[in-house]
Amino acid sequence: MRRITIFGATGSIGQNTLDLIARDSEAYQVVALTGDQNIAQLARDAIQHRAEIAITADVHRLDDLRTALSGTGIKAAAGPHALVEAASRPADWVMSSIVGSAGLTPGLRALEQGARLALANKESMVCAGPLMLSTAKAHGAQILPVDSEHSAVFQALIGEDISAVERVIITASGGAFRDWPLEDLANATPEQAAQHPNWDMGQRITIDSATMFNKALELIETKEFFEIHPSKIEAVVHPESMIHALVGFNDGALMAHVGPPDMRHAIGFALHYPHRKPLPVERLDLVALGQLTFRAADETRWPALRLAREVMAQGGLSGAVFNAAKERALDGFIAKRIGFQQIAVVVEEVLSRVLAQPGHIDADITLDNVMNADHLARVRADEIINEIEG
Ligand code: NDP
Ligand code: MG
Repeated sequence: MRRITIFGATGSIGQNTLDLIARDSEAYQVVALTGDQNIAQLARDAIQHRAEIAITADVHRLDDLRTALSGTGIKAAAGPHALVEAASRPADWVMSSIVGSAGLTPGLRALEQGARLALANKESMVCAGPLMLSTAKAHGAQILPVDSEHSAVFQALIGEDISAVERVIITASGGAFRDWPLEDLANATPEQAAQHPNWDMGQRITIDSATMFNKALELIETKEFFEIHPSKIEAVVHPESMIHALVGFNDGALMAHVGPPDMRHAIGFALHYPHRKPLPVERLDLVALGQLTFRAADETRWPALRLAREVMAQGGLSGAVFNAAKERALDGFIAKRIGFQQIAVVVEEVLSRVLAQPGHIDADITLDNVMNADHLARVRADEIINEIEG
């Protein structure tokens, strides 16, 4: 039996992971499941999958979790330390699917115990890519990408020589507002932004798809994960979300990964790697599909893409600053304190204020430095949001 832990089990990726595991439950021993606010779901899943321990990130919810698990024999714990402790429990396969930079520390700890880490939490790579890779290497651990684009690139690279790669193209649906007139974007609401045309995902990543901050994070993730020069990485709008990424080689070949927008493919690929096993995803009927279309990713409509280029050029702690600023700006938009287009304004301003301070570009990517940059960026973002609110 393979020992499995899921960070962010109550979220969209976590639930899709549990769906796959439930189909072959004899093969897995669930070690730890974690969540944050959705205590009822966490307890239900812990009981169904006979987890050893269930953890909520919120210490104020521990009593609720204990009550929900009473009499089951399943341990309950809470708080960031409990998450790190859970990551230290021996496991063969760990899903990292907490949303935001809160996912970084548990993922690193799982790598330190040599687990295979299925990485949905792209923020880990954006904030601390070199640290993730060096930690995996030092402990003989492996990181498998779960983001659909990066899983696609990973699959296209199997058996290939990375030095023969000329370009990597990741696709973007364009999100909720891809066809809106530019002048209407100023009035776009969080509720409208949270309607994704193709994918069913958590609220935050869905809004990040509308701003293209999701694609911006993914451009940086591509650079960090595959250690590819930014000049070789592009994003293209592909409204149907059937091609997830393409890898171009020096002989002109372009290998595309095609499949329905269902995260259980990328999760299942990472779960069974290096083998392929049947997965419950739709098989595409190309004739019924008829055609696939592509458009340029317009940096006027989506300034996040231009900011991602700046971050990739700067390196250092700029990824951590970028991500934290985006997380706070997104909070501000969801709370209706700033408008849709001000999310990018806040992030750009935080980048320029924080990176103007010495030591942020050339600092070592240690966990302490990343967490400090993350904290400072959040403080600056809050200041700027207050300034905007006047
Ligand atoms: P969701 O919002 O659906 O779920 C997030 C999970 O993280 C939940 O379990 C939530 O708990 C938990 N959580 C929230 N805040 C914290 C915190 N501060 N500390 C610890 N746990 C916390 O997100 P998704 O599943 O959509 O996304 C998860 C990650 O995967 C993100 O990094 C996202 O970018 C990435 N990803 C997601 C895709 C998707 O299809 N959804 C596709 C590709 C990547 P609770 O719900 O109990 O409050
Ligand atoms: Mg993606």
